Amino acid sequence: MKTKSKMTLVRLLAGKNMSEVAKEDGVSPQAVRFRLTPEDLATYQNHSAQLSADRQQADVDDMEERRAWRWGSKPEARFWENVDIQGPDDCWEWQGSRLPSGYGQLHIWGDKNHLYAHRVTWEIAHGPVPDDLDICHSCDNPPCCNPAHLWAGTAKQNTWDSIRKGRFKPFGNKCPTCNIDEVE
Ligand SMILES: [Zn+2]
Repeated sequence: MKTKSKMTLVRLLAGKNMSEVAKEDGVSPQAVRFRLTPEDLATYQNHSAQLSADRQQADVDDMEERRAWRWGSKPEARFWENVDIQGPDDCWEWQGSRLPSGYGQLHIWGDKNHLYAHRVTWEIAHGPVPDDLDICHSCDNPPCCNPAHLWAGTAKQNTWDSIRKGRFKPFGNKCPTCNIDEVE
């Protein structure tokens, strides 16, 4: 029993997870778990916890590195030169080029594509924007780059936000059958 447990533990510590070991042996993951003595199970669990902590730390380091690469102190200062900075509660409008939709855009050091100024603002304040999130304006002013007016939400939250504010018009300006104020 103990030997079997140790041999299984060795394979787990070598980097396989329980499902992989189970697959190799043609048994259920549960069966693999039952092979382990409580001490060996605890050793494996500590090992897994450490691994995932290391992985998270690596992600954080990677984000920091990307941020440092893009935002040495100079480019960041250059970015703010294009923003009309006002009081903390006011809108800070982008003074550089704008898209027809009103959003500020810029071409950035090291990136091939144009970036949205408000997304870059959020990035300066919080780090890289997660892939699945939109950066939304609480002030509804597209060129605004006041970090206090920006929030990150899913596309779905963004749509709901514009519905709440009566800006979402799937039927053009007039909807004969619904009252948008009553959506909530
Ligand atoms: Zn604003």
